Amino acid sequence: MAGKRSIAVLGSTGSIGVSTLDVIARHPDRFTVYALVALSSVDAMLAQCRQFAPRYAVMMDQRAAQVLKESLPADIPTEVLHGQEALAAVVSADEVDAVMAAIVGAAGLPSTLAAARAGKTLLLANKESLVMGGHLLMQAVRESGAWLLPIDSEHNAIFQCMPVEAGAVPSLRGVSKVLLTASGGPFRSWSLERMREATPDQACAHPNWSMGRKISVDSASLMNKGLEFIEACWIFDLAPELVEVVVHPQSIIHSMVQYRDGSVLAQMGNPDMRTPIAYGLGWPERVDAGVAPLDLVTTAHLDFEAPDESRFPCLRLARESVTTGGTAMAVCNAANEVAVAAFLDERIRFTDIPRVIEYTLGQVSPVEPDSLAVVESADAEARRVSDNYLAAVAADDKLVSLP
Ligand code: NAD
Ligand code: MG
Repeated sequence: MAGKRSIAVLGSTGSIGVSTLDVIARHPDRFTVYALVALSSVDAMLAQCRQFAPRYAVMMDQRAAQVLKESLPADIPTEVLHGQEALAAVVSADEVDAVMAAIVGAAGLPSTLAAARAGKTLLLANKESLVMGGHLLMQAVRESGAWLLPIDSEHNAIFQCMPVEAGAVPSLRGVSKVLLTASGGPFRSWSLERMREATPDQACAHPNWSMGRKISVDSASLMNKGLEFIEACWIFDLAPELVEVVVHPQSIIHSMVQYRDGSVLAQMGNPDMRTPIAYGLGWPERVDAGVAPLDLVTTAHLDFEAPDESRFPCLRLARESVTTGGTAMAVCNAANEVAVAAFLDERIRFTDIPRVIEYTLGQVSPVEPDSLAVVESADAEARRVSDNYLAAVAADDKLVSLP
């Protein structure tokens, strides 16, 4: 590709979005920003428009779009749009080379799918879209010839440790296992009794990574690793038996690939999302990410342990939903989103999150996920079931004892 790589950043005001723009700003000779997309944070979006002068700024919220339009100084050539249609149009625009998919949650699926169908280089951070619609998304990637470059640090590590053949398609040649590392989160050594009392702020205080609140809670419950387990199966076309979760509290090794001959390749680095982001933006070249070099002597120890599924049942629930197949993964993801939102609102306890998911998985029958409409309807049904369950138990106080 001649000239600069033109990027659309979806979820630009979030943790991944901000880190992406940090890397882009280091390379004005390589990258330009075509579009920025966010839900409703006008002030952050305004500052980003001032710095990057994108062609388009899309706010999903109409009112926020209006306020942004009124606040933009006349000398910034950015057009403000709003809503799903505008989002689908900007990700598919001819001028776009790569799309950073960093919207949080199931809300990211339509735009991620649109980018894949349009054959864009898909820099995939929004793991929920793959968990929910993996079948559709991978099919779209294959059919359009899009390149999918995983941004989730573990999958980026696996991608870096696997042989890559035509284009950006990873190959399983000689691979015997993928070792998916997990930090264990802030509650790694907590008892179930202690976790019962955990507050949202404690759950969001990750020992190694600074992230948005939803993924931080997922990291504390190990559902993040469950979602990543599903993500690994889709991206690398792996049977679930070939993926093993290993707890590695230092988050220095970001995942490993084990080969038939006994070799194990690991990708290491400081826990800073700018490394996988820069890898995706620059691919196949390496570009400066602003990340401090790894100092192994200071790190001193790399520890490993098995995950404890009795204290962290979310990991088991995610694995079981892969085995069940069909829309079970979408149901698992949706129930988790409802439960995490309820926990962050202090409507349920941390330890109730897996109970909501298990209940919902038991109520919603899986079907073949052969269209976006089917997947979205499974997602909606799971949200309804989870919401009703929460309403019922809140009423008779069996599940929750609200403060
Ligand atoms: P965040 O909460 O910090 O940011 C979310 C972004 O999405 C914001 O810009 C917000 O405006 C936008 N958004 C929210 N709802 C939207 C909607 N309905 N439509 C359009 N935009 C919407 O989240 P984050 O931590 O940056 O995570 C983003 C995604 O990346 C998640 O899927 C997460 O699992 C994944 N991820 C994050 C990290 C990390 O370190 N933060 C690491 C790996 C993967
Ligand atoms: Mg990750």
